[in-house]
Amino acid sequence: MENKHLTVFKEFKKQLLNFPRDTLYDKYLDTIVSAQLKKIKYSDDIFEPEKLSRQYIYAKARGVNEDSVDSQTAKNSINTKKLNLELENFIRSHPDCKQAFDDIGYMPVVIASLSSGGAKNRSLLWMDIKAVRDNSFGQKQILDTTSLDVDEETEDEEDLSFLTYERKPESAIKSSLFTRLFFKQGKLKLRSFSGVLLMLLLMLSFVADIFIAIFSILVLFLLSDLPGFKLWQVMVLLLLIPVAYLNWRYFFMPLYQLPYHRVIKAPMFFANINVDNADIEMYRNKDKLNVARITEFIAVCPICSGAIELANGKPDQKQPLVGRCREAPHAHVYSFDRMTMTGWFLGVDNLLRCENPTI
Ligand SMILES: [Zn+2]
Repeated sequence: MENKHLTVFKEFKKQLLNFPRDTLYDKYLDTIVSAQLKKIKYSDDIFEPEKLSRQYIYAKARGVNEDSVDSQTAKNSINTKKLNLELENFIRSHPDCKQAFDDIGYMPVVIASLSSGGAKNRSLLWMDIKAVRDNSFGQKQILDTTSLDVDEETEDEEDLSFLTYERKPESAIKSSLFTRLFFKQGKLKLRSFSGVLLMLLLMLSFVADIFIAIFSILVLFLLSDLPGFKLWQVMVLLLLIPVAYLNWRYFFMPLYQLPYHRVIKAPMFFANINVDNADIEMYRNKDKLNVARITEFIAVCPICSGAIELANGKPDQKQPLVGRCREAPHAHVYSFDRMTMTGWFLGVDNLLRCENPTI
């Protein structure tokens, strides 16, 4: 007979693969369940959990070196109660998944405890199973399981209406070929040679856009008086109009707005093809000169732990630039304050209250 733990963990791992969500908590859960499965493979019938430190889970889920993660950061971002809530949400939101665990009669649960061992006590996490009672996924069960977690007594209730942004490390930002033409190490002084060159290119593209627009309209109006013009030439000219529009809308306008908005999404050509997110911010250096810098503002969504990126506020927000969650871009929306690097919830009215009846 197959081990019950093995059946439940295998099923959970399969369901995580079937319904992938790009959120940190799902990655934490995946890390924990994968470690249990690996341990079971090499053990006998009796289940011996693989207990993991928060640093290990944090590092593995984010793909960073475990030694670079300090215990406080890991503790702040991995909350056992939230892990169990996310786990239950995951199962509840996929009927097939819920059915699978109902059939087995057991479902996974995350357990945390204080490890014994000298003065440097730290809590360890692992996954166990619990009976699916009355097919209900109640809150009480979660509270029961987390009461073991002595370490988390000091944890504050999370504030879902607020988040803090950070800049991606410079080494992690990949710039495009076009950017490297003008930006030296991701930075561009506007009064340097490259800066003036970029301005000239910008002005030139603007003049070209206007010229194409006027020329196309003139040709269209005077077509009958221009016997030398062939049809294919007119077609090529017509094709130039959308090109001019795209250039104006996605190249000229964003860069033109940079000095006023201070932060913009990197327009076409500036973002690396392999990277789907890049921002340009402008600041004054010590000589009071304007410098443009390729960067990336990121945050973790307080609601679902997905990645928050800057995006256009249109059409649902008033601000030109807001932070949108990659997993729920129109529901989990936060404001963006570049100076304090903070944001407030702007999303659907009452969403936070609906998800947290206690607020
Ligand atoms: Zn989210």
